[in-house]
Amino acid sequence: MRAIRAVVALLMLALVVSGCSGLVSQERPSSPIVQDNGDTTGPDNEASPDADKDTPGSDSDSSHASESPTQPRTTEAVWVAAGDVMLHMPQYPGAYDKASKRYVFDPFFEQVAPILSSGDWSIVNLEVPLGGKELEYTGYPMFNAPPEMAEALKNSGVTIVGTANNHSLDRKETGVVRTLEALEAQGLVFKGTARSQAEADQAVIVEKNEIKMGFLAYTYGTNGVRIPADKPYLVSLIDEDQMVEDIKQLKSAGADFITVALHFGIEYQFTPSEEQQRLAHKLIEAGADIIAGSHPHVVQPYELVDAVYEDGTPRQGVILYSMGNFISNQRGDFKDFGVIFRIHVTKHHDSGHIELSQVEPIPTWVHKYKENGSYQYRILPLEQTLSERSQPGLSSQDYKQLESSWKVLDTRLGSMLN
Ligand SMILES: [Zn+2]
Repeated sequence: MRAIRAVVALLMLALVVSGCSGLVSQERPSSPIVQDNGDTTGPDNEASPDADKDTPGSDSDSSHASESPTQPRTTEAVWVAAGDVMLHMPQYPGAYDKASKRYVFDPFFEQVAPILSSGDWSIVNLEVPLGGKELEYTGYPMFNAPPEMAEALKNSGVTIVGTANNHSLDRKETGVVRTLEALEAQGLVFKGTARSQAEADQAVIVEKNEIKMGFLAYTYGTNGVRIPADKPYLVSLIDEDQMVEDIKQLKSAGADFITVALHFGIEYQFTPSEEQQRLAHKLIEAGADIIAGSHPHVVQPYELVDAVYEDGTPRQGVILYSMGNFISNQRGDFKDFGVIFRIHVTKHHDSGHIELSQVEPIPTWVHKYKENGSYQYRILPLEQTLSERSQPGLSSQDYKQLESSWKVLDTRLGSMLN
């Protein structure tokens, strides 16, 4: 029995492997990026303890499939995302390490790193080009930041970066190229800007625990910086027909579910515009599963949307209209608050269908304080900070304010449910 099971397991593994490469080779010239951290065998073993457990005396699965319904095999993974990553000039001095003459932004993320790291996919919107020193560091309205930010994101647990936003072209093509080089150097997956048409056309699929997530990213515009007519690939702009086509192509490239990062909406509005709602719903209907929204710089509600698979099976999509600022120097009117979302993803291997569950908003706040003459910034998980009350530099008055802000955010986040 044990030998037979081992052979069956090997055959299944071979099928999975050949299935994957089949998908890759079927694809159009640009083959998808499929990453899996080499961990496919681990979850297979742990997530399917019952799948190959034969009843005593049985000799093969097929001979009595009708009398003992086989336990459908499932695997699970965790999806995590946060909002806008920004660098304004006041954020620089306190992050500069004189000894190494480098910027070290890791402390920004220190207290949320465990949450970011808890995701099998961990996504942010990078709202500043990482063009490096030669292009001069600047803040609003035309940003440029050090490549060290890519390192800090990587160290904090981020694995995937959306780069399509209104600041993508703040340093034109050079900024795009250098940003992607910086992300690439840290092994981060990216989508939304590209150095060539081939790179723009490349399907981004990241596999975790045998679940393949397809990732797309688009922006409403580039703040009036013109995209060169001969280089339309530099930034992915919102173009509904193209987006629907991209979703279709990702599906046929093997994606089990699709995240679309959308840089859209109206700045500082606490509720999504009608246009945001229309577009997000349309993309879910077209096959997207999660809309990861950013740009308003404040937190907007999230919504669960009923949709169907092509075969009519019901599925549920999740729209996160805006996750607000993850890190920035913006203060007041809730611009110093953001939200990390965590969603459980289950794949039913019999049908290939995906189930999204336990949608968990984790509100965050950027604690800004002065230390040795310059400002420090720490992203704090709000609920945890309020329950522990052990954050240095926060007074009971601060906690009181945070408590009432948290209540406002909690109500706002859930206001579009049901
Ligand atoms: Zn923006």
